[in-house]
Amino acid sequence: MIVAIDGPSGSGKSSVAREVARRCDLTYLDTGAMYRSVAYLCLERGVDPEDDARTAEVARAARIEFSGEGGRRVLADGEDVTEAIRTAEVERAVSPVSANPAVREAMVAQQRRAGETGGVVAEGRDIGTVVFPAAEVKVFLTASPEARARRRAVQRHGGDLARGAAVEVDAAAERAILDDLVRRDAYDSSRATSPLRTADDAVRIDSSELGFEEVVGRVVELVRAAEGARS
Ligand code: C5P
Repeated sequence: MIVAIDGPSGSGKSSVAREVARRCDLTYLDTGAMYRSVAYLCLERGVDPEDDARTAEVARAARIEFSGEGGRRVLADGEDVTEAIRTAEVERAVSPVSANPAVREAMVAQQRRAGETGGVVAEGRDIGTVVFPAAEVKVFLTASPEARARRRAVQRHGGDLARGAAVEVDAAAERAILDDLVRRDAYDSSRATSPLRTADDAVRIDSSELGFEEVVGRVVELVRAAEGARS
């Protein structure tokens, strides 16, 4: 069973994909963390993220692994980068890195290997369109830019809207996050290689007005229906 969950930044993909994986006993694969890890390794090694040839070398040599409960910890070349890949610096570097076709080729190959055993919930931008076009369940999860910025801002301050744990967030900080989201969306949607788009056969879910439980419930329903169709 391969479940593909695509969508823009801050749509709640990660929390949803993780919870669906837990409930359906599948392995969670965070492909955004893989691109972030390559961006992090480039910054660490003084490689300019805009330098396509050197960035591609870093990506091809990178060993990215997931460990710990629910695959939450991210290891890049043996180093735990779980927190380090969430900084604004990495976020700025990840767009050019992930627009590089050679980087994508290396990452897609790793992602497909992870899916060979089946039983995966993969989350990203091109899972249903490129990585696993034959996925049994495809979801495109979206939300208004404002709802997505709010979610990210609360997360950065240690809260989690998915769990109903809101925290006070500075309006200017939220505005900066919104600007960055809009910039990344434009970049991800307009790049030549694997732009963010909805697969023709994906189910679109808008999480702006839906609670976390409701979104997870809908995706789990789709998984159960696909399992039923198989047997
Ligand atoms: O999902 P997340 O925000 O962690 O992704 C970080 C960045 O990685 C995105 O802005 C996008 O540029 C890139 N990405 C991608 N393809 C994927 C997953 C993420 O290009 N499948």
